[in-house]
Amino acid sequence: MIYLDNAATTRVDDKVNKVIEKYNSELYFNPSALYGKGSDLSNALNGVRDKITKVLGCEPNARVIFTSGATEANNLAIFGSNIPRGKTYIFGIGEHPSVYNCAIDLKNKNVDVKFAQLNSVGEIDIDKLKELLDENVGFVSVMLVSNETGAINKIKEIATLIKDKSPRAIFHVDAVQGFCKVPFNMSNCMVDLCTISAHKIYGPKGVGALIIRPNLNIKNINFGGGQEKGTRSGTENVSGILGFGEVIENLDYNYIKELKDKFLSNLKPIEDKIQINGNGSPYILSLSIPGIRGETLVHMLEGEGVLLGTGSACSSSKIENRTLSAMGRTKEQVLGAIRISFGKYNTLEEVDFSSKLFVEKVLLLINMYERK
Ligand code: PMP
Repeated sequence: MIYLDNAATTRVDDKVNKVIEKYNSELYFNPSALYGKGSDLSNALNGVRDKITKVLGCEPNARVIFTSGATEANNLAIFGSNIPRGKTYIFGIGEHPSVYNCAIDLKNKNVDVKFAQLNSVGEIDIDKLKELLDENVGFVSVMLVSNETGAINKIKEIATLIKDKSPRAIFHVDAVQGFCKVPFNMSNCMVDLCTISAHKIYGPKGVGALIIRPNLNIKNINFGGGQEKGTRSGTENVSGILGFGEVIENLDYNYIKELKDKFLSNLKPIEDKIQINGNGSPYILSLSIPGIRGETLVHMLEGEGVLLGTGSACSSSKIENRTLSAMGRTKEQVLGAIRISFGKYNTLEEVDFSSKLFVEKVLLLINMYERK
């Protein structure tokens, strides 16, 4: 099998599995327990918090709240922020459903919600964003890297515009697809809240965090025993978090770029039949092949042992696509969308083989349709 769907999730690193095993079978204590073995674990969790804030370049005293993943962290950021009534919320139109559906919920509750549009390469359209910004804006959420197209947003520029118009507005960044993958510094970029997830960087599923800049109060959205200093109740997923800690480091950008470049260079024979969606991250290659259904191609390649995706894993069953439509893609281009996403376990040989197979199948499908 050749796995090229690393934006959906990644293979768990062996060193993560070892740590998970250790903390599940030997050091399985509750980190809130009063005895030493409990507080040792609490200290170990703090060690992972420190790693996260270091990689993100946070100011001292930034807080890391562990959650069950990025979905929960996004919900906590949006619903836990103390935004005064009557203020405006702005969301990128291409945000992941764990942000977008919160926006829809707010809208249904008659909150003033606006959506920032995208340009043709999938980034937040800065000029259009400017039109939405005024002193009444209370909360803005924009993703660092699009899970669908790999487009990288200009976070610092966006933050500067927001803070200029509305200095007290809270700026949240869903950094799931960029954390440890593309350069990003939370304090340089004036980000107040940042979401990350373990399973996109070779950690376990069901582990994520919300990082909160110093002196920002986030209220709890669940109720219970008061763990995570009261911001997120529930016993922490100790083994998962400590496993996550094993893979928090800046990853090799250049190797992944080499993989993507290889795939792209092998697409030469079908160059005039495809359109690239997105501008940016070496981890994600999104293509549209009008006239072909992405789904059909995915199944054909699966038959040969190559796994890749259409759009994102979360939206692959739906035909409409907020992101690609906002980028001005036609319905045909949306139907023909394919997402190839790379990871550290992929080899150049795998990429060479699968891209050649990709070209072969695309030409086969085009021939079939032309003969009809
Ligand atoms: N945001 C983005 C940009 C994502 O790609 C994902 C995962 N597809 C999530 C949030 C949700 O992450 P999790 O699976 O940890 O809930």
